[in-house]
Amino acid sequence: MDFEIPEKTRTTLEMIEEFVDKELTPLEYLFLNEPFRKVLPKIEEKRLRVKQMGLWAPGHAEKYGGMGLDLLDLALVSEALGGCPFGHFVFGCHAPDAGNIEVLHQHGTKAQKKKWLGPLVTGEIRSCFSMTEPEMPGSNPLMMETQAIKDGDDYVITGQKWYTTAADGAAVAVVMAVTNPEAPAHQRASMILVPTDTRGFERVRNIQVMGEAGEGFFSHSEILYQSCRVPQANRLGPEGHGFVIAQERLGPGRIHHCMRWLGICNRALDLMCSRAKARAMGDGVTLADKEIIQAWIAECAAEIRAARMLTLHTAWLIERHGWKAARQDISMIKFLVAGTLQKVIDRALQVHGGLGMTDDTVLAFFYRHERAARIYDGPDEVHKLSLARRILAEKS
Ligand SMILES: Cc1cc2nc3c(=O)[nH]c(=O)nc-3n(C[C@H](O)[C@H](O)[C@H](O)COP(=O)(O)OP(=O)(O)OC[C@H]3O[C@@H](n4cnc5c(N)ncnc54)[C@H](O)[C@@H]3O)c2cc1C
Repeated sequence: MDFEIPEKTRTTLEMIEEFVDKELTPLEYLFLNEPFRKVLPKIEEKRLRVKQMGLWAPGHAEKYGGMGLDLLDLALVSEALGGCPFGHFVFGCHAPDAGNIEVLHQHGTKAQKKKWLGPLVTGEIRSCFSMTEPEMPGSNPLMMETQAIKDGDDYVITGQKWYTTAADGAAVAVVMAVTNPEAPAHQRASMILVPTDTRGFERVRNIQVMGEAGEGFFSHSEILYQSCRVPQANRLGPEGHGFVIAQERLGPGRIHHCMRWLGICNRALDLMCSRAKARAMGDGVTLADKEIIQAWIAECAAEIRAARMLTLHTAWLIERHGWKAARQDISMIKFLVAGTLQKVIDRALQVHGGLGMTDDTVLAFFYRHERAARIYDGPDEVHKLSLARRILAEKS
């Protein structure tokens, strides 16, 4: 067993960490206190710099302008970028584009790749993933109302979706819709590419999430598909394979999320320690001298380390044996890391007292936005149930 990080990866990580520290962290105050459109031009400048440095799109194929890193290296990069809310966006490895790019890469036709894959990898356009519906339980996506009905060479899509992240400003949506209502439950839906300028694609609103509707890339939309007509050639993969493709998309996707969350944990712990050391409490002592704070720091460090080891091991399992062999571990990390994240952010915020509740530090942003980690990509309970079922089956 070798825990050593290869030298080439270490060099890449050092470059990224330095860039985040010097170039991105100083933009955070603006990002936290102004509408996203105000900080976007500065962020675009940074994206250009990242491209010039050869660090753009670390997870995507070199053929399309990415770095072509494997899952383990990408996991470490994701951790390095996670501490800054727009780190992944600046380096071109942000969700939901990253997942959609993977799907296009694996299942896209030549024509689909030509039209969408290249521009997505270069960051020229953005995409979104439209599966969850307000009236149906997202934790059981087999219950889906959105329909894509064949008409000539087209599909006509009708339905209501919400929580379509980053739809505001996206050029194309990957829409999950029922194409084969009579088929067995897992073979009913397909993924279909819908350009957002298609007639009948209506972005109703950016949903107010924890008090913020956000805008552009940092938003989640409700969308109506009103007899939205697209060619059948826009379907990704064979008809009825939507869930199979979604499963493939989620495995590596959970590694990216978990490592990003661990990046947030590292940042929150750093902030917690600096604040504890700087906050004078009278009689020559600081918060860092208080035992209860020391216990939190030790517990956070240990919990982060444990979650990180499990996540990296899961990435290794996927890489070595495929996502099916790593199913249990993928479920484990999803709820374990999301729980660790919530606990670490909460403690860091507590140590900051009133300051923690403001947008003078990044903690309140993380507190608001990362609560969802325990809900999206499968709520905690769903992962716990499926893990327990597998464990029980093995133990019989
Ligand atoms: C910030 C954010 C971003 C998102 N981005 C996207 C996106 O880009 N695209 C997209 O399509 N969707 C997205 N989603 C939607 C997300 O995937 C769903 O919210 C999620 O799947 C849960 O579905 P639901 O909200 O319908 O909750 P429900 O399915 O109604 O579940 C509600 C709660 O019930 C409990 N529960 C569920 N099943 C069980 C069970 N079997 N046993 C016990 N308890 C259970 C859980 O606690 C769960 O939280 C996003 C959500 C959020 C919050």
